[in-house]
Amino acid sequence: MGAMNATEVRERETMCPLPGLLIVLSGPSGVGKGTVCARLRQRNPEITYSVSATTRMPRRGEVDGQTYFFKTKEQFQRMIAAGDLLEWAQYAGYLYGTPRAFVQQQLDMGHDVLLEIEVQGAQQVRTQFPEAVCVFLLPPSIEVLRDRIVGRGTECTDALQARWQALESELRMVHAYDYAVTNDDIDVACVHIEGIVHAEKARASRQARIVEQWLQEEVTNVISID
Ligand code: 5GP
Repeated sequence: MGAMNATEVRERETMCPLPGLLIVLSGPSGVGKGTVCARLRQRNPEITYSVSATTRMPRRGEVDGQTYFFKTKEQFQRMIAAGDLLEWAQYAGYLYGTPRAFVQQQLDMGHDVLLEIEVQGAQQVRTQFPEAVCVFLLPPSIEVLRDRIVGRGTECTDALQARWQALESELRMVHAYDYAVTNDDIDVACVHIEGIVHAEKARASRQARIVEQWLQEEVTNVISID
């Protein structure tokens, strides 16, 4: 094989870029994942957002294919059976899941992909993509979160107890994450998450793949000069 010229090297780099980073934003219900995710997308339009599938009904203003892919239970179950979902979970009586093919394609093209999902799904992603960076969003205090749940005063004591127990187990999942970021101020939380993404992308183990590629190309060049 002959030496590659500069154009060929550039073409090859474009053909096989470093895979993108899979960013999982998760945490207990009521912590503001959706709001932080929306601000992150606004601030970083280059990050690809993965639109989830769900069996819940659209809320006012939600658009099929943009907010969620709204599915019937039967359609969703077919997606599970076909292995089309990277992860899925039942939450508040509905099914939610991440379409696998889109995420994989985007990562292969070198694009960073953001998932905003609840904690059970985040664990499944971790198993399948050990190199994903998993961020757990924390409330500023337990009182703030409790007040959000209890404060509405619409639920009976048993229902509150059940919600609190669910919250407790969600909070305990923090140990399974790489980072925990407090959502006190949305922009500050975004700045912290952006810092984490930059640091993850600068990991020597990640960058080493580029260096390996350079070295291989140099070896090819040297051999062909000889
Ligand atoms: P909502 O119905 O309020 O939009 O979302 C309810 C919960 O489902 C939120 O905690 C959200 O993070 C989570 N969720 C949204 N999409 C997915 C998904 O694809 N997979 C999983 N596991 N959870 C999701």
